[in-house]
Amino acid sequence: MEKVKKNITNFTKSEILAEFANLGEKPFRVKQLWSWIYARGAKSFAEMTNLSKEMRQNLEERFLLNRPEVSKDLISFDGTRKFLLKFHDGREVESVFIPEENRATLCISSQVGCTLACKFCHTGTQTLVRNLEFHEIVAQVLVAKDLIGDWDKSAKRLTNIVFMGMGEPFFNYENVAKAVEILNDCDGLDFSARRITISTSGLVPEILRASKELKTHLAISLHATNDKLRTEIMAINKKYPLKDLLAACKSYNKENPGQKITFEYVMLNGVNDGEEQAKELVELIKKFNLNVKINLIPFNPWNGCEYGRSGISRIENFQKILKKSDLIAPIRKTRGDDVLAACGQLKSESEREKRRR
Ligand code: SAH
Ligand code: SF4
Repeated sequence: MEKVKKNITNFTKSEILAEFANLGEKPFRVKQLWSWIYARGAKSFAEMTNLSKEMRQNLEERFLLNRPEVSKDLISFDGTRKFLLKFHDGREVESVFIPEENRATLCISSQVGCTLACKFCHTGTQTLVRNLEFHEIVAQVLVAKDLIGDWDKSAKRLTNIVFMGMGEPFFNYENVAKAVEILNDCDGLDFSARRITISTSGLVPEILRASKELKTHLAISLHATNDKLRTEIMAINKKYPLKDLLAACKSYNKENPGQKITFEYVMLNGVNDGEEQAKELVELIKKFNLNVKINLIPFNPWNGCEYGRSGISRIENFQKILKKSDLIAPIRKTRGDDVLAACGQLKSESEREKRRR
């Protein structure tokens, strides 16, 4: 029976090194292959002209080199580009490319759906959940670079990666860690840890682990300043209440001096956006002596969600209180509203469409 060929991107660098050793190939060949795939965006072994013909044939016989299918691709009037990737089992995840003046960010997913069901989050309504494999996480970056034409190293457009798409990255720690290692690799994609942000709902043990192992930027979905409200909108707070979460943030700060943690704070009208809460937030940050900045995020409403977006004057008022205490608290610009910008919306809309058909 013919052996089923696997995609070469399903292997880590050390696994490829081991494969190559079996084939009697020198380690520097791995570096060349790696650079073709991850620095130059090769989509076939045939184009890897600095490898011998024999080696290319060998690779061809043993491995595949292809991308998952792009099942949807929407470009917003502001340049934001949202696409869905479909994997071998038909499951889909979304990624969003966000170009700005001085940088361009790709927001990637770590799970199909999400294990948690935070009340304001659309992804949380999706029942199908599985972890993404590390290569499915990396594939989102490769495909984004294909779509925007970003394989010319001297004119690199994509500068930052954020794990803020679908899923809770720290419920898929091992795959996220492997993906970060591949993103970091300077023979390939070459995103230093400070250009990668992992956003978490607040899994304390993994925050502590990542502070030593991954060293990426950390973003915390905070969204509330007391346990009562936070537990109500984010059930994970029951397991890891604020005092534990903020103590873990302090440890992250200590392990990664000079690096600000981002607190994400989605502004829910009349729920968490009052002056009292702004003051409570200042107190918490002072009490734990945290090096943070606060991203004030206008809520993206979606059908069936009980919350509404705070008006701009409420958001600005909240911001003023934070600023008075010398905290950095930008209001995030809403982007790509016309292509369903809320987290997980595109994917859900695509599933509804399928059901309708
Ligand atoms: N699970 C991780 C990462 C994915 S969510 C986490 O929770 O951090 C990425 C960010 O989008 C989080 O801060 C999340 O709270 C925010 N978010 C989710 N739904 C949103 C909505 N409808 N409007 C605005 N931000 C939202
Ligand atoms: Fe999951 Fe994050 Fe959405 Fe909560 S906010 S449901 S953790 S993706």
